[in-house]
Amino acid sequence: MSGYILDKEITYLPGVGPKRAQLLEKELGIRTFRDLLYTFPFRYVDRSKFYAISEIDSTSAYIQLRGAIKSVSLAGSGKGTRLIAILGDGTGYIELVFFKGIKWMQEKLKVGEEYIVFGKPSVFNDRFNFVHPEIEPVSKAASVSGPTITGVYSSTEKLQSGGISNKSFTMMQRRLAEIVAGTIQETLPGWFLQEKKLIPLERALHDIHFPPDMYALEQARSRLKYEELFYLQLALVKQKFIKMREGSGVVLARLGDAFNYTYSHLPFPLTGAQKRVLKEIRADVTSGKQMNRLLQGDVGSGKTMVALFSALQAIDNGYQACIMAPTEVLAVQHYNGLQRYINPDIVKIALLTGNTKTKERREIYAGLADGTINLVIGTHALIEDKVQFNALALAVIDEQHRFGVDQRARLWSKSEITPHILVMTATPIPRTLAMTLYGDLDVSVIDELPPGRKPIVTTHAGENQRHKVYEFMRKEIAAGRQVFVVYPLIKESEKMDYENLEQGYLDITDAFPQPDYITAVVHGKQTPENKAFDMNLFVSGKANILVSTSVIEVGVDVPNASVMVINSAERFGLAQLHQLRGRVGRGADKSYCILMTGYKLSKESKDRIDLMCSTNDGFELAEADLKMRGPGDFEGTRQSGLAIDLHIANLTKDSPVLEDARRTAMDILSEDPTLEQPRNRLLKENLKDIRGQEIDYSKIS
Ligand code: ADP
Ligand code: MG
Repeated sequence: MSGYILDKEITYLPGVGPKRAQLLEKELGIRTFRDLLYTFPFRYVDRSKFYAISEIDSTSAYIQLRGAIKSVSLAGSGKGTRLIAILGDGTGYIELVFFKGIKWMQEKLKVGEEYIVFGKPSVFNDRFNFVHPEIEPVSKAASVSGPTITGVYSSTEKLQSGGISNKSFTMMQRRLAEIVAGTIQETLPGWFLQEKKLIPLERALHDIHFPPDMYALEQARSRLKYEELFYLQLALVKQKFIKMREGSGVVLARLGDAFNYTYSHLPFPLTGAQKRVLKEIRADVTSGKQMNRLLQGDVGSGKTMVALFSALQAIDNGYQACIMAPTEVLAVQHYNGLQRYINPDIVKIALLTGNTKTKERREIYAGLADGTINLVIGTHALIEDKVQFNALALAVIDEQHRFGVDQRARLWSKSEITPHILVMTATPIPRTLAMTLYGDLDVSVIDELPPGRKPIVTTHAGENQRHKVYEFMRKEIAAGRQVFVVYPLIKESEKMDYENLEQGYLDITDAFPQPDYITAVVHGKQTPENKAFDMNLFVSGKANILVSTSVIEVGVDVPNASVMVINSAERFGLAQLHQLRGRVGRGADKSYCILMTGYKLSKESKDRIDLMCSTNDGFELAEADLKMRGPGDFEGTRQSGLAIDLHIANLTKDSPVLEDARRTAMDILSEDPTLEQPRNRLLKENLKDIRGQEIDYSKIS
């Protein structure tokens, strides 16, 4: 739709020159008229309401007061000179402070006269004040009968200092509204608007910025939210339907020796949840359709067993299976761990990673190509071009959030037949988000831990309590337990992080000297040999302490480890902290997670740490995470390949709308799968439009 007015660059808006345009793009991502139009207020102020000064507290946002000026005076000197007016309203007094335009304000503000003041209170010297509020005499304000509800747009410091205040931003919106009036093309069919009781797009886009009243605002929001979530679901459901139609899958009906051997040699009974999920998978792989299933389960819930039994079903039917893990450490651990459970006479298993030696690598390539290897466990090395399978029927991807979309996609092209896909994650994804992110996948959940697990006690310790933490570690080690000590590894400051890790390692070996204590160390900069050596020291129980970066975050299983010490815990996200904590509490012993932080914590960090200390439930944490940070930032989703860039809908709060939108999308598509009917013409057009390009969801899984 070239030439459509909304596609115009923002510089075409009167009052927006190149400098402003640059600022708008950099700070708010606004490049076109559409971008500006779709930048909605994040809050509204009802200017028909006046607050009492006594009502003001730390939560007050933009508010309006009405009161008389008691005094006007100058304070400070030189650059710090400011004008202070004291306003009283019968419930109290508050200072209005002006650093600029002092002369002008001095003339404007008359002692004894009544004014209307609008602004956001701030705190200075333990008292509230207003810095540069909007202020107008009541006499004058009364004569202006403008809208009473005004929008507040999000801003940044750079915008403010660049002269784009809320007032001037609102002006820009006002100008834009005038220009685009009458040109907005409707994106939902008339019958749809009627059925869902939604207002037209044009009106919604006007009222969201300039609502005549609260009711109109609600209507505008409903319309825009519904549209946003509906098109998202329409895209996802459409893809799901296409997959169901096209994706004929290998039937893995037979349960044979491979499966039965492992089942009868298990050292423990499967949990109810494991059994249930295995049944769901079994139904999929015997249905004749291709399975695309996401398996969620908290750390330690036993997902690996589910992966193994799924793989064994493929093998019993004469096919191959693979399990792809995000790190070398984890792949090796899977490989070693799973060997205990399988019959080597029936199942030929191989390990393929970046460190597999050339000769062995060639043998594995050959074995995969001719089908003599039944099960391969590996890292990214599995998706290299050279890898071809004879008949891959099942691909398991562990900790899927660690893989990029294209990396996953390449697994599918490894074999003549289309493999069933099982994606596993220990990062719990709240239901509403899962529905959006993985709307085209089926979801299974392991919601039960193996019996005998003791809850992990989580505590917060400041740097100054380090000696106490060490004392506690000594006690646990004396009782025969092992300890993880983790340092953050965050890309941007990698170098510094390694320095921290090295310093930390020295501190630990100082406090825990040989030969009484053995400390292993694992990080990404080691040679594979050294890494494997140290890892083995710890896994075999020879080392008491493992110092590492967050590489151990995923998977590593050492049941004898009972203490997890996380340094600079404030630098980790909730999901990551929970993953790390899940490394302990796997044995029968009581386990501990100690979150160490610096002295100064932001409120957000403090909230995160407190939350970690208060619950062990991964789903509860995930919900809280989603609420605290918003879905755009949700860990794991950034790499999921789906940018969910929602303007107005909120995946947590709007889940009823989301569910209705999904049902509606399903109804429409099951009647008209390709949206060919005339009544769905607009839907078809805008489905492409909204996404810009049609994302190939089949490649995402
Ligand atoms: P995750 O879901 O985090 O990948 P794992 O598959 O690594 O969890 O399992 C964690 C630990 O629990 C392993 O030591 C595994 O052997 C053990 N485990 C798995 N299933 C059961 C079960 N049904 N009963 C007891 N222990 C189990
Ligand atoms: Mg695992």
